[in-house]
Amino acid sequence: MILAHKIALDPNSAQALYFARASGVSRFAWNWALAEWKRQYAEFSEYKCGPRPSEMSLRKELNAIKADAFPWMGEVTKNAPQQAIKNLGVAFKNFFDGRAKYPKFKKKGVSGDSFRADGGTDKLHPNAVTVNGKRVKLPIIGWVKMREALRFQGNIKSATVSRVADRWFVSLTVEVDHTPPVRESQATGGVDLGIKTLATLSDGTSFEGPKALRKSLKKLRKLGRAVSRKVKGSANRRKAVARLAQHHARVASVRKDSLHKATTAIVQKFTVLGIEGLNVKGMMANGRLARAVADVGMFEFRRQLEYKAQMHGTRIVVASRWFPSSKTCFDCGDVHVGLTLADREWTCDGCGVVHDRDLNAAKNLMRFAASSAVTACGAKGADNIFADVVKPVAVKQESRRGINAYV
Ligand SMILES: [Zn+2]
Repeated sequence: MILAHKIALDPNSAQALYFARASGVSRFAWNWALAEWKRQYAEFSEYKCGPRPSEMSLRKELNAIKADAFPWMGEVTKNAPQQAIKNLGVAFKNFFDGRAKYPKFKKKGVSGDSFRADGGTDKLHPNAVTVNGKRVKLPIIGWVKMREALRFQGNIKSATVSRVADRWFVSLTVEVDHTPPVRESQATGGVDLGIKTLATLSDGTSFEGPKALRKSLKKLRKLGRAVSRKVKGSANRRKAVARLAQHHARVASVRKDSLHKATTAIVQKFTVLGIEGLNVKGMMANGRLARAVADVGMFEFRRQLEYKAQMHGTRIVVASRWFPSSKTCFDCGDVHVGLTLADREWTCDGCGVVHDRDLNAAKNLMRFAASSAVTACGAKGADNIFADVVKPVAVKQESRRGINAYV
């Protein structure tokens, strides 16, 4: 399986300058390819002939013209522009599959800069870059200091350098041999995700969201307003944007940390786990800040659960988003139609039991996982119309970017 480790870098000023330049090339290649894609697609739609644009054809096109048209691209690793166009291909695929919005042009900014920093792998060089303790050797630029050593053993498949607020990071993906351990205790559980309570488990355990988060959200809003009050293009606005980006990065890392603690505890506890499916389109439509942060958390939660489940040998059963986990009474099966989002507790009309909303949902997901566990690997149970995917851990699963874990 492929794992990724994101490590903060301590570049010297020449290296930081190179990072900024390579990110610029990467951004330029993305924007160039997106403009070309749009142009070629419009042409194709109008004349109904000729080639449709693809990331591969655009990469070939750029390679053919770059020495003459954009000679400065040669100053940085060739993988920077190549990977940017590959990423655009992924962005288009996500758009066509309904998972994301139409790709946008990238603006020069404080956050979001990144580029593929390695030279690729081949038979003679199974490692994309060399790592030695707390140092990584990148093509053209040489040795760069890392804040910590790489956590995984195995062949390094790629190195991506990115900027988060005012800091540079390298993300190293590593192919590691991994056989999930055989678990002695067999326990089936369910987990319900929420906004106020991060996660509620079917055995009654709950994980609170980080307290710092609410205060942070307030500050985030304040910093956002500060940006909008400043004059566009002014130095003060740039500073305000930088402060906002730094705070965003801090909020994200606080949240990620609490998610890591919860997801590790959950996969250690259960060998079969029921979770709810995510309503991707519904999430993207909602523009509210707290909600948006929680949504990002839910994707992250799911991502962490999936790769940790693989590492620990836990099987995850995903209920479709139509599965009525919250409003079905766990005790008698009665469906409480009038349940609203605001109801934290409700009384069942069928049997009179008073339910905690989240706990009842988690228990229903546990039962759902138990009933789906008997079906064949990967197949929908005949009587289980709500099963989205039944994931066997033995099968190698790779996310759409080919990375299982990202820590
Ligand atoms: Zn009931």
